[in-house]
Amino acid sequence: MAIKKVGIIGCGLMGSGIAQVASQTGYDVMVREVTMDLYERGRKRIEGSLAKFVEKGKMTAPDRDAALGRLKGTTSLAELKDCDIIVEAIIENMDEKTKIYRELDALCPPKTIFASNTSSLPIGDMSAVTKRRDRFCGLHFFNPVPIMKLVEVVRSIDTSEETYQAAKSFAESLGKTVVTAKDTPGFVVNVLLVPYLLDAVRLLERGVASKEDIDQGMVLGCGHPMGPLTLLDYVGLDTTYYIAEIMFREFKDHHYAAPPLLRRMVEAGYHGRKSGRGFYVYEAKA
Ligand code: NAD
Repeated sequence: MAIKKVGIIGCGLMGSGIAQVASQTGYDVMVREVTMDLYERGRKRIEGSLAKFVEKGKMTAPDRDAALGRLKGTTSLAELKDCDIIVEAIIENMDEKTKIYRELDALCPPKTIFASNTSSLPIGDMSAVTKRRDRFCGLHFFNPVPIMKLVEVVRSIDTSEETYQAAKSFAESLGKTVVTAKDTPGFVVNVLLVPYLLDAVRLLERGVASKEDIDQGMVLGCGHPMGPLTLLDYVGLDTTYYIAEIMFREFKDHHYAAPPLLRRMVEAGYHGRKSGRGFYVYEAKA
């Protein structure tokens, strides 16, 4: 099927990145946020990222303006009803997500594909509240979306071949490389990554090493581009905590249990770069 118009729900870290790459690619994009202030905050992030592309000579100023011209924001879900595909990137919470999908299902024609950017929630549990289980899949992007090349396409037991192919082609049209995964929490990457990140917090919690040394150890010892605590600040401590809780509930395996330090930091509002403070302090946003 031909995808022309893309809907995005949530303009946080991920939603803004997905909206950016879709509008850069040439799709008309409608983004739904809870308030226009939150949409504007996400749009500023997009403008900042596009400005860097222009500065580095990777994009022309007219192309940037055209991309921004294709991008619109709204607080009304009804404005997404003529989209060919809708990618949802709201908070990692099943009740919030299913609430959105029930409303969307009533608004959109049967042809519209729904795709969740969830990191850990079962796609089948979300599609079950709609009448389009076959036209529902996971499209799991990576942060920062304009830079990271991977998208996991997730097929639930009900995702049709046609939907899978359309979602895969859509991700590829955005310049991404696709890996396909079954509908199991964490898919491929997070099932391996999340226990590693949680173990880094446990090391810090036990006083084995300083945060700088833990990060340095993995950068210089394993050739990772950044250490686990820096990566946690990028991903969002709140998001990682929700993902860990969901995976722990599913697998009942202590590797996925969130360490108390992570929970305390999330409760204190230390959510990482986006809040100005996580394991490190980010002066500009503090
Ligand atoms: P975030 O906290 O940065 O953004 C979430 C946004 O959703 C917020 O701006 C919030 O206002 C908005 N929102 C909440 N309820 C909404 C609603 N009903 N309608 C419209 N907008 C609503 O979170 P994020 O890091 O962008 O994560 C979003 C999703 O992407 C989660 O499912 C997460 O698991 C997944 N994900 C995150 C990462 C990452 O590295 N952070 C990577 C891949 C996938």
